[in-house]
Amino acid sequence: MIGRGDTLLIATRNAGKTREFREAFAALGVSVKDLNEVAGVPEIEETGDTFEANALIKAKAAAEATGLPALADDSGLCVDALGGAPGVYSARYAGEGAGDAANNAKLLRELSALGASAEGAGAGPDGAKLLSSARFVCSLVLYEPATGAQTVAEGTVEGFIADRASGSGGFGYDPLFYLPEYGKSMAEISLEEKNRISHRGLALRRLLAKL
Ligand code: IMP
Repeated sequence: MIGRGDTLLIATRNAGKTREFREAFAALGVSVKDLNEVAGVPEIEETGDTFEANALIKAKAAAEATGLPALADDSGLCVDALGGAPGVYSARYAGEGAGDAANNAKLLRELSALGASAEGAGAGPDGAKLLSSARFVCSLVLYEPATGAQTVAEGTVEGFIADRASGSGGFGYDPLFYLPEYGKSMAEISLEEKNRISHRGLALRRLLAKL
């Protein structure tokens, strides 16, 4: 079990994610490094078919290459009308290296091809039509190489996919993800609010509670 004075490796090169985790673990007296700060971790392929499997692949590879306990996350969007797609393919939905705009355009194309409609869900921002219920999911896995111990936590946030983008905050699918209890998209709420309700924020609080 990790604790005060330990160093935890975050299996990411995303400085934004590292900052969030560093802040959260500082409260436990655990210092944090990421893959930009340690050598010897090879590129890790996400070959799992669940968020948890991918997070475990990344955490284990980073821990075994460095000898440090490692934490990895994997997240994505699951859309009910699409049988849970794009799921673990969220980052590369419109193809390897495709950006957020291409991924969002593909999502709207697929839902429109199905004639999808979230019956009874009401209207989205500025009268937008809601096409399907959906959720963001985040899995976190902490892997300790000395013992092979794994600590797993998951968080989800429920919403609807709207037929048009709103807002300029956040990233990824946020502009299409409508939160009925806010009457806004995920890209229209503040970062502080997003961290409070998001799948990642929830998973992190659950993981910290287990440590
Ligand atoms: P990863 O966990 O960093 O690999 O993210 C996977 C993909 O899921 C991202 O590239 C986004 O397309 C999507 N995603 C994950 N979390 C969010 C979020 O909070 N908002 C919008 N899109 C997200």
